[in-house]
This record gives sequence, C-alpha cells and structure tokens, in this order.
Amino acid sequence: MLDLSRTSLTRVTRELLEVGLVREGVVELRATTGRPSEVLEVVASAHHFLGIKLTGDALHAVVTDLAAAVQEQSSAALVAPDVDHVVGQIAALVDDVRGRFPRLTSVGISLAGVVTGERGGEVVHQSPFLGWAGDVPLSQLVAQATGYPVVVENDVSALTALEAWSRVGAGVSSMALVTIGAGLGFGFVIGGRVVRGAHGVAGRLDHVVVVPDGPVCERGHQGCASALLPEGAVVRNAGSAAGDYRAVIEAARAGDGPERRAVEAAGVALGRLIGLIQNTVDPEKVVLTGEGLDTYRVAADVVHAEIDRLVEGGVDSAVLDVQGFDFSEWARAAAGGAIFSLLT
Ligand SMILES: [Zn+2]
Repeated sequence: MLDLSRTSLTRVTRELLEVGLVREGVVELRATTGRPSEVLEVVASAHHFLGIKLTGDALHAVVTDLAAAVQEQSSAALVAPDVDHVVGQIAALVDDVRGRFPRLTSVGISLAGVVTGERGGEVVHQSPFLGWAGDVPLSQLVAQATGYPVVVENDVSALTALEAWSRVGAGVSSMALVTIGAGLGFGFVIGGRVVRGAHGVAGRLDHVVVVPDGPVCERGHQGCASALLPEGAVVRNAGSAAGDYRAVIEAARAGDGPERRAVEAAGVALGRLIGLIQNTVDPEKVVLTGEGLDTYRVAADVVHAEIDRLVEGGVDSAVLDVQGFDFSEWARAAAGGAIFSLLT
C-alpha cells in the first residue's frame, strides 16, 4: 500500500521500533507467499492526548492513547465563558492531567463555530454558544498557557475526521456525517478526505429551508432545518412549557399529541436533509449520530418515507448508518485532532 521497497520498510520499521512507537507482534505464516510476515503493533500507550469539547457552559474532557481509546473522562461547568477564564480553566486541567499522564503529548480542542488558520495557529472566528465576538487565537493562547502543542477544530469537522479514520481504513472513500442534538452538524468526506471548504465553513445546511410553511427559526427563516430539528426546536414546537427534550420524547413515544407531531415534523426535516445530501454527494455512507438520536428513533418511518420520496430509486438501507452516541465522543474527536496532527 505504501509503495515502499522491502529494504525501506525494514529501515523505517527499525526506527519506529527504536523510538518505541511499534512493537513486534505475532509472526504470521502465509501459505501464498511462503515467507513469514512480521506483524507490528502500534504501542498505543506511547503517547497520550487531552481532548476537550467546549460547550456554552461546560468543558468535557477525555484523555486518550495513540489509538484514540479513552483512558479517563471528566466534565466541569465553565467558571465563566469569556476567553480568559476558559483558557485558564483549560490550563488548570492540563496541569492536573499531566501529573497522571506524563506522556501527555498535545491538546485538542473542539467547539461549535467557525475555525480557520494553519495547524497550531487556529483562530476561532465565531462561536455562537460561547458568545465570543471577534477573532480568538485559541490554539496560541492555550499553547502559551500550557506549554503543549494545541490543535483547535470545529467540533463537527473533528467528529467527521474521527469517523472517517476507521471507515476510510475499512475502504469507505465517501461519507456524510449528520449530527443532531442541541445543534445540527454536517460533515463530508470525499476521496478519503474531510471537506473543510475554502473558508472553513463547508457543510452548513442547518438553515436550509425544508418545510416552507414550517415554524420560524431564531434568524427569521421560515421552515428551515434549525426551526424543526434541534432538541430546542422540538421542545418549542411541542408547546410543552414544562417539558424538556427527554419529556417530549417520552410523550411522543406514548401518544399522539403535540409532542408526537413535533417529533415527526423534525423527522420530516431530517429525511429531507438526508435526501438532499444523498442527491448532492451520493456518498457510500450517511452516518447519523448525536445526542438527539431519539428524534430519529421515534420518527424513523417518517424519516425514511421522506428520503424515499426525494431520492430516485430510494436509498439502500446499508447507506444510512445510525450510530449510537455518547457525549464524550465530542471530546474524543478533539483528541483525535491532536493525534492526526502528530501523525500527518
Ligand atoms: Zn434558520
């Protein structure tokens, strides 16, 4: 696959062995070649990474090894959402983690918003959840405060890259990722690469109009995806002042009231978005995930009916891949960003 001669491979491998990044595994005898292949394993514990997902009010963190396996995880409320306090809180966390993980190598941070810039010099232009105005050179600020290399990424891009890591390795070269939860996220992998866009804002489908006579979003669009599909929109459209998303989902499962109608309206929006993606990119896989997956679970029939209505010939059931989600995945994806920046 690497197009390297056996001599080069042997030399490179020796170096990797010397620095302790790989170790020798079992020897495999292959009848076809007659020659035993030497199997090398990555020494996952050779490096550790801190991944941080910032939301509007909390900091979710995981420590992973080189294989992105989570070693520990934690969550804490943000002391205050302004840049100085957030950087200070991250620095305190790094200080704490490095005591337990002396092989801590770098820090990855992800957040909702527009992130651009060269690796290690990423600038956050806009983060609606944190209420940051103006450009924030977050990686530089955290690197200065901690002494570690820092990578900052848009959270959906980071999650897309992490998903692509295993799937591209398994032969999938095109993929779309759709996340539903507090917000909506869309990521694309084409030709094995994550599409980030010329201005760092590829995949902004969250305000596409999907139901022309639908409710109005906070930006004033009638019937856009954000007016129907995020958890907050589902709650608002259900009209249940007292209930939260969980309560609306339970009521939608149990009955035929306004909660059910709100969740099914979200299902229509989701089906139309997936149909749009399918018709635009025709990826091998559409991975649907996020903490709001119960919307899909309750309204799956509606979602699939909309997809089938929009996509000529329908969509093969193998294309839509619904992936269970734990919130720590966001932080793990941030750690993934730190790992990739070390490896590529
Ligand atoms: Zn909108």
